[in-house]
Amino acid sequence: MTDPVGESVWKRIDEAAIKVLRIPTPFQVGRVNCYLVEDDPLTLIDAGPNSGKALDELEHQLQALGHSVEEIQLVIVTHQHIDHLGLVDIIARRSGAEVAALDLAVDFLANFGEDAERDDREAADLMRRHGISEDVVTALQQVTGSFRAWGSKVTVTRPVSDGELMQLRDRALAVQYRPGHSPSDTCFWDADRRILIAADHLIGHISSNPLISRPLDGSDRRRQALVEYIGSLQKTRELPAEVVLSGHGEPITGHAELITQRFALHQRRAAKLYGLISERPQTGHELAQRLWGDVAVTQAFLTLSEVIGHVDLLINAGHVRELDEDGVLRFEAISTTPADELGDLIPGGSQVTG
Ligand SMILES: [Zn+2]
Repeated sequence: MTDPVGESVWKRIDEAAIKVLRIPTPFQVGRVNCYLVEDDPLTLIDAGPNSGKALDELEHQLQALGHSVEEIQLVIVTHQHIDHLGLVDIIARRSGAEVAALDLAVDFLANFGEDAERDDREAADLMRRHGISEDVVTALQQVTGSFRAWGSKVTVTRPVSDGELMQLRDRALAVQYRPGHSPSDTCFWDADRRILIAADHLIGHISSNPLISRPLDGSDRRRQALVEYIGSLQKTRELPAEVVLSGHGEPITGHAELITQRFALHQRRAAKLYGLISERPQTGHELAQRLWGDVAVTQAFLTLSEVIGHVDLLINAGHVRELDEDGVLRFEAISTTPADELGDLIPGGSQVTG
């Protein structure tokens, strides 16, 4: 399933007139997959980060397929992360292409710079509240601030909504809003070919981070990113997809089994955290350190997001509560259930369906 896929899968992707462009990013995740759909309109799904190197590679890879940036007629944005959207505006400007993205994300994408800054400020507050020291918060702010240049604002000319069918000459793509990894994750489902373009909603070789970020409606509530993500994965598990095309790594076959394995991973991780919390109340940062040790500064927010996401499962099931002591949050166990008897924290999580 996460093994390299066979020739028959590539043949299928090719027969669907979909080409994979692997564009370099400066991030740990490595290259990002963009998809060229040779249909009418000629469609590019995601565009890579905003760098000369990425643009250069995109042009070369398009050229090798007999196309150019100028020919692109439609760019589809899968979600709000910079490794996927940085070049969208440049390509749209050069080609005159329409830009399609989820309606709920249009404002965020238009105000990318300010929104990303506000995201960073709120992430800093969250990190402080969960026990991360000021020097790590400051260092991480500097890193994310410098990363922002790889993003760009995006002017969406064609907002699409969840459930809408985008009609191209040779296919229909159903828009599926599947938040979790980010608040704007959108998948595109070709029911006739049973191909799902999932971007970072589902990646074969790594479990997508349920990153904590502000809700798209501009409200102050904290999203339960992992809970939201699990709900989205449950919908995807039901799809009769035969090939899933990801934002990074190889195409996926056997997505239902992969999702079931991911649910088991989240269940195990939550149970482990519950065991640690049962010893004594601890901050999210302490818990992250106990699970992963001292991680690089750049990973501090990712690991904190992981911890909070899993503790949300425990809080929702009534096993843990949040204690606020002078603005610092600690998690405390409030049930006496042993960690190995927690039961299914993910409803239906262990059953294979679809
Ligand atoms: Zn990505």
